[in-house]
Amino acid sequence: MPQQIEATDGGLVAMPRESLLALRTALFRDLGINAAALLQEAGYAGGQALFDALSNWLASRGLPSPESLPSSEFTDRASEFLRSVGWGAIEVGTLEAAATIDSADWAEADPAHPMEFPGCYYSAGLLTDLFGRIVGESVAVMEVECRSMGNDRCRFLVGAVDTMQRVYDAMGEGVTYEQALSNAASAVGS
Ligand SMILES: [Zn+2]
Repeated sequence: MPQQIEATDGGLVAMPRESLLALRTALFRDLGINAAALLQEAGYAGGQALFDALSNWLASRGLPSPESLPSSEFTDRASEFLRSVGWGAIEVGTLEAAATIDSADWAEADPAHPMEFPGCYYSAGLLTDLFGRIVGESVAVMEVECRSMGNDRCRFLVGAVDTMQRVYDAMGEGVTYEQALSNAASAVGS
């Protein structure tokens, strides 16, 4: 397997993971839950650069652009790319009306500093912009499982903004995300 440092190909900078985790910890320590929106905003701002880096990475391998890549190939290629730039390997799937992005080694997760809620907010913002570009429309991304809260993986749901809002609201009332997605699917169908 080629071991390449590719973060300098475009608008990316290789930041030590410890810095990201320390920044996250400090923001939550000083700002409480308000840190979440700031981290998301910062992540979102990086979506274009990550999309461009992914596009260049694919092109350098003679592969089509991210939005034209067949879905059968998307998971493996996106996973290889995200691992090569340090974020971690992913698996893409579907659950009801949402796509799922699962990672057992996502870099923003930090089991050493347990949280009571999914904590990869920077990533959620980053993936929101990235996947919005890939699918060509606005999406919402919500993390529903996280290694920072003791799960074996981080799981991000990617879906239409209104669907994700329904899921978010239902989860606030104590409904599981699986059930909330199922309810959202039947609500859309009715
Ligand atoms: Zn996470």
